[in-house]
Amino acid sequence: MQVGFIGLGNMGSAIARNLIKAGHAVTVYNRTLAKAEALKGEGAAVARRPAEAARGAVVITMLADDAAVEAAVFDADGILGALSSGAVHVSMSTISVALSQRLAAAHAKAGQTYVAAPVFGRPEAAAAAKLFIAAAGPAKAIATCQPLFDAIGQRTFVIAEEPVKATLVKLSGNFLIAAIIESLSEAVALTRKAGIDPKTYIEFLTNTLFAAPIFKTYGGLIAAEQYSPAGFAAPLGLKDVRLALAAAEAQQVPMPIASLVRDHLLTVIAQGGADLDWSALGQLAARNAGLPVK
Ligand code: NAD
Repeated sequence: MQVGFIGLGNMGSAIARNLIKAGHAVTVYNRTLAKAEALKGEGAAVARRPAEAARGAVVITMLADDAAVEAAVFDADGILGALSSGAVHVSMSTISVALSQRLAAAHAKAGQTYVAAPVFGRPEAAAAAKLFIAAAGPAKAIATCQPLFDAIGQRTFVIAEEPVKATLVKLSGNFLIAAIIESLSEAVALTRKAGIDPKTYIEFLTNTLFAAPIFKTYGGLIAAEQYSPAGFAAPLGLKDVRLALAAAEAQQVPMPIASLVRDHLLTVIAQGGADLDWSALGQLAARNAGLPVK
């Protein structure tokens, strides 16, 4: 399939690579051209503007945040003005509910289709084509995109016809991950201060009642105090918890744990941890407990 791909960060580069490997004709765009050029040797065509990547049946965006997606779609040389009638924009970024609604309306007005398909899984999962995709949009558009989803993920869950519902599934899921990282951080600080080896502790948890991938991944990172390089940087985690809180406020749903985690992520960043993984909540909990940190 002729497909455009915009945003070649930690996640996007791996996803675009898997689309190429699966035999799709991929045109890539990235703000920093070098990252796009790096995929040339693997068979990608390189676009100089987002509009040039939006000439096929589908264009995918995997950009950092709302501001980046807004620029790529609504700017003069953006997707909206270039995508042909009937073509599909798939947004895989974790963005706000408000922007997801705006995108659905703008694409519909232009005779185009918007699909929200945020993903679960870190860059390692993206590289291994093992992402989980939460997709929402018109059934016909999801069917068009399914071969692309199959090339990058292990399973696609169709949430609903309204794209915004997948956006909310993603935001609520990331809130849950953040809450688990915070809880693990506090539990590890408590046991570590009492002289229990963190690796032994996590080994016990994840082989008994807490055998889920989230506990294994983040328990391992916290026990090893391995917060760099970031697979998912603290500012992106803060963004997602903030967006979950905004969605919650719009629906009058109090989320006190989300509020606490927001402040702790902000503390990590304020104390110089902007380049650290969001699991650096573990470092903050250790520091707050008066423990030495690496
Ligand atoms: P990243 O920071 O590595 O890459 C972000 C990309 O956005 C880069 O290509 C950058 O050039 C581009 N960008 C940023 N601001 C821009 C702007 N104003 N204009 C144009 N381009 C701009 O981020 P990532 O880890 O690849 O994450 C991408 C998206 O996927 C985010 O929404 C993130 O929340 C989500 N996500 C990340 C993970 C993860 O574990 N890293 C997992 C699931 C979802």
